[in-house]
Amino acid sequence: MHIMQTALTDSAKEAAYILNSGGVVAFPTETVYGLGAGIDNPEAIRQLFHAKGRPGDNPLIVHIYSLEQLPDVADDINQSARLLIERFFPGPLTLVLKKNQRVPYSVTAGLETVGVRCPANPLAREFLSYCSSPVAAPSANLSGLPSATSWETVYEDLQGKINAVLRGKPSAIGLESTIVDCSCSVPILLRAGAITLEQLQAVLPAIIVNTPTDTQEAPKSPGLKYPHYAPKASIRLLQTNDTITTGPSSGYIGLSAPPEGVLLFKICHDLEEYGRELFSFFRHCDALGINVIYCELPANKGIGRAIRDRLIRASESH
Ligand code: AMP
Ligand code: MG
Repeated sequence: MHIMQTALTDSAKEAAYILNSGGVVAFPTETVYGLGAGIDNPEAIRQLFHAKGRPGDNPLIVHIYSLEQLPDVADDINQSARLLIERFFPGPLTLVLKKNQRVPYSVTAGLETVGVRCPANPLAREFLSYCSSPVAAPSANLSGLPSATSWETVYEDLQGKINAVLRGKPSAIGLESTIVDCSCSVPILLRAGAITLEQLQAVLPAIIVNTPTDTQEAPKSPGLKYPHYAPKASIRLLQTNDTITTGPSSGYIGLSAPPEGVLLFKICHDLEEYGRELFSFFRHCDALGINVIYCELPANKGIGRAIRDRLIRASESH
């Protein structure tokens, strides 16, 4: 592939200038780093898929900086969507809505719907406000690897393949956005995230949880069928009270004390820290050549639901 110089910048204005000139630019958000291209620029969208090695049938989330831009990307905002927008925008929530004709099918992977998010991170909003169109952005990592939660990780994965990285702080949440499909009459939770099912139920008591099956003809959220979040090491899930014998090259992350004999461990004080540290811990283990990572499986509630989801999917990738 064509190797390009990847600029590192701390200026939202400069990063937006590069995007507005047709570039592919990574930027920080509160969930994970995003890899952006203008939705009106088909060549940049093509390069974005290419740089990540992302399959073309995995749709991108469109990022807006304010609700003023919503009519540019989505039509038919129903009552469920309105309630969620009022309560959770800007923030770590993506809504799937009927797409506006301005959004190309290359962004939605041929779907009539579009994922829309308005991030809360101030640098992300400043960057998006300088961009001349809404910005399509998947996570800024090589496809299949854990999402990048720091600019250094973005650079490691995508250096030479993208035009620029806007350097911000490490992601405050560290897990990808919650996704709710509001394009049909009953809202559906497609992906768990920092906005929890319990918080969503408080606003929309009728919300249902998507349970994907292999036999589903058209998966509700196409990207969910791909392996995700996986480090090179294999992931072993630990339930409370499991006793294990660790090998010589293993790691551990969780809330409880680590098993004896692990080479590297991270004890998190709460689930928020667990979510924030998970992907960077995976990457740290890979850098040290660790081949098994033991991960404590949290209960299926609150943000624990999102951590479980990522852990289970990472454990199924090998
Ligand atoms: P990423 O930004 O890498 O976390 O990937 C975005 C994910 O959002 C995709 O893998 C899909 O699962 C989901 N997504 C984006 N747009 C849609 C849509 N129109 N309908 C359903 N899911 C979507
Ligand atoms: Mg991703």
